[in-house]
Amino acid sequence: MYETIIIGGGPAAVAAGVYAARKQIKTALFASQIGGQSVVSDGIENWIGEEVISGPDLAIKLKKHLESQKDNIDLHIGENVDKVNKKEDGTFEVVVGEDIYETKTVLVCSGGRHRRLGVPGESDFEGRGVAFCATCDAPFFKDKDVAVVGGGNSGLEAVVDLIKYANKVYLIARKPDGGLRGDPVTQAEIMNSDKVEIIYESNASAVVGEAMVTGLKYKKNDSDEEHEIAVQGVFVEIGSVPNSEIVGEFVDTDDWSNIKVNFENQETSCPGVFAAGDVTNSAYRQNNIAVGDAIKALLSAHEYLKKNQ
Ligand SMILES: Cc1cc2nc3c(=O)[nH]c(=O)nc-3n(C[C@H](O)[C@H](O)[C@H](O)COP(=O)(O)OP(=O)(O)OC[C@H]3O[C@@H](n4cnc5c(N)ncnc54)[C@H](O)[C@@H]3O)c2cc1C
Repeated sequence: MYETIIIGGGPAAVAAGVYAARKQIKTALFASQIGGQSVVSDGIENWIGEEVISGPDLAIKLKKHLESQKDNIDLHIGENVDKVNKKEDGTFEVVVGEDIYETKTVLVCSGGRHRRLGVPGESDFEGRGVAFCATCDAPFFKDKDVAVVGGGNSGLEAVVDLIKYANKVYLIARKPDGGLRGDPVTQAEIMNSDKVEIIYESNASAVVGEAMVTGLKYKKNDSDEEHEIAVQGVFVEIGSVPNSEIVGEFVDTDDWSNIKVNFENQETSCPGVFAAGDVTNSAYRQNNIAVGDAIKALLSAHEYLKKNQ
């Protein structure tokens, strides 16, 4: 029986892991991989203590720090948690493939993943023109025509990344002209580029192609008529979804499936389950915030363990 099982491999989980080891709480950490979402970033400029660090370098440092504590924590890197079950006695079972691990508390730090369009062709052409990270993949579209789907901040930032390489960038946005949601500096950069064409009040309806993507179909908000633009790349930038399904059956979530927490101590609706980082209903999705919240969660789990010996 573990005292705590930490689920995740981003900055939140690593911070909780380091604190758990130093508190000598009997802990296991399960992570499909170490690094978290910003691992794809060329340069992170707000990780406190580093003026700039690349995503891969941050991942290496996180892993090294975690492994330095390995005498006091069981690390299961490369192992994905399928599900957590709540038992009648108030403890939990963590299911990893065929294996079951028992624990008194659970720290959910499983973060988020890209939201998908769910339209025909999106999965078929993933990696063959359909991409989810402009920061990573923009250079592959040098002199090509591409479309970005999503008029929020991440969509607009993707357009800015792509302007540097692509021949033409279409932006498909649900909102009408004037309704883009990105910050003013990014918006100005887009408006001043003659490479960009914004298709307002529209939704992507299908990705088409043969061996590779050749086009994107879309419909205007108020019509069923399909239009098609010829593009070789489609960047899906419509936000993220929390990886909360593993505890979703017995932990309260909001309308977007974010785990609801008490921000004072990161408690969830289920005693013994704490959550931190992008999987929660935190207003801000940032590395440093994930770390701080995860430390709060771990210290709260420690208090819970003391009270429930
Ligand atoms: C492209 C990009 C650039 C960004 N740049 C910045 C930046 O410059 N500065 C900044 O502060 N923030 C940045 N962010 C946001 C930041 O990355 C997130 O806020 C942060 O990663 C959240 O950390 P987390 O630990 O909560 O979750 P995540 O980073 O999402 O990590 C969760 C990890 O847990 C693992 N996992 C998930 N489910 C399971 C499971 N069932 N079993 C085992 N393991 C599991 C996966 O490996 C997953 O990667 C960026 C995000 C993106 C997408």
